[in-house]
Amino acid sequence: TVALIKTLANQSVLAMSNAKLFEQVQEKNKQLAIANEHKSLFFANMSHELRTPLNAVLGYTELMQDGIYGDIPERAKQVLARVQTNGAHLLSLINDVLDISKIEAGELSLSLGDYSLRAVIETVVNATGSLAQAKGLRISTDITPDLPVGHGDERRLTQVLLNIISNAIKFTDKGGVMIRARASGGDFKMAVEDTGPGIAPEDQARIFEAFHQVDSTITKQKGGTGLGLSISKRFVEMHGGTISLTSALGEGSTFRVQIPVRVDRQMEAA
Ligand code: ADP
Repeated sequence: TVALIKTLANQSVLAMSNAKLFEQVQEKNKQLAIANEHKSLFFANMSHELRTPLNAVLGYTELMQDGIYGDIPERAKQVLARVQTNGAHLLSLINDVLDISKIEAGELSLSLGDYSLRAVIETVVNATGSLAQAKGLRISTDITPDLPVGHGDERRLTQVLLNIISNAIKFTDKGGVMIRARASGGDFKMAVEDTGPGIAPEDQARIFEAFHQVDSTITKQKGGTGLGLSISKRFVEMHGGTISLTSALGEGSTFRVQIPVRVDRQMEAA
């Protein structure tokens, strides 16, 4: 009996200390979540504050380029073009940081409406055409003619496709990029296939994480933030969809996006 009482007493002490430990862990987690939220809000505010003056810089640069302030010498025109390119790059970095912080703070919501997936793809192909042409790459599309009207966030879906297609162009040096789209079983199914360097198996899951870039000379040469795919993944998930990758080194990569044709309610991103 004494042994039994001792065991029971030990067990209850253990249970008590377990409960205390559990409470402490919960408290720590709560503190971490609050700190994380503060961090996201800080980034969101800061990015917003950075955007305003940068937009002014870009606006004045454009006015100068347009000759509003008089004729500009040739050398100065080249410098202005550089200011413009670098400023635009900085703006897109700031926008990426703003998006990811807003998503993490749970402050980004989709703006749902009707859209044409064909028009979205055409917009992106037009926007990236000159980049592909400059590299001698062929962009082809294979879009089934009977695509239904979609319902979702057109701007965010354009952003997702723009990111995947411009990555495909950015990392591919010869060959081309094939974009396919069809609808089946209530979903849009899209694939962007390139003939680029491919992505090693160990990097394939990680490139969807924020700031992760494949550690290679090619990636370093091309610049970028490593944010595009993680933002894209969140947007696709907010549409209740999935994004996936199949790739083989030396052969190329295929990114696939599947989203419901009609999205009536925003899903939580993982
Ligand atoms: P960024 O392009 O700004 O670096 P992303 O999140 O869009 O950021 O991509 C993350 C990384 O994934 C890239 O830096 C690159 O290493 C790799 N990657 C993405 N798309 C491709 C592709 N089509 N071919 C080869 N590597 C790619």
